Amino acid sequence: MTDCLFCKIAAGEIPADKVYEDKHAIAFLDINPVAPGHTMVIPKVHAETYLDLPDEEVCPLGEALKKVTTMVKEALKPDGFNIGANMKKAAGQAVDHLHIHIIPRWEGDGGGSMHSIVKNPPKEDIKEIAEKIRNAA
Ligand code: AMP
Ligand code: ZN
Repeated sequence: MTDCLFCKIAAGEIPADKVYEDKHAIAFLDINPVAPGHTMVIPKVHAETYLDLPDEEVCPLGEALKKVTTMVKEALKPDGFNIGANMKKAAGQAVDHLHIHIIPRWEGDGGGSMHSIVKNPPKEDIKEIAEKIRNAA
């Protein structure tokens, strides 16, 4: 996509601190890191979210994610990671090209878990929610 920041980074038109590249994906450091080694893995093809990513790109992206996470682990020796994507504005997505954040974590770094992202527990029974999701298959 011509007017997409991350498409331009993938094409080498905008500089980034690239740490990995293969046929399908690239990884670069987040320009505003929340932790040392905060890295983003993106597909080279433009897709706003996972749901827009062509099926044949899903596994290559997952493989790149595992490889880059291993590289960060080897290089920086964190105690753990948070890995995830903000999808759509409601979830905090600011750049409309799918990017998976790799956030290294250290014991005592003061950060939280996935459970600290939002506090919006369901009002209906979770069994009813499970039924709705099963019925959507
Ligand atoms: P979000 O869409 O909420 O996941 O946030 C977009 C992320 O992209 C933020 O963490 C930004 O710091 C990061 N970001 C924005 N522009 C650049 C850039 N030119 N190079 C590297 N990271 C960037
Ligand atoms: Zn793009």
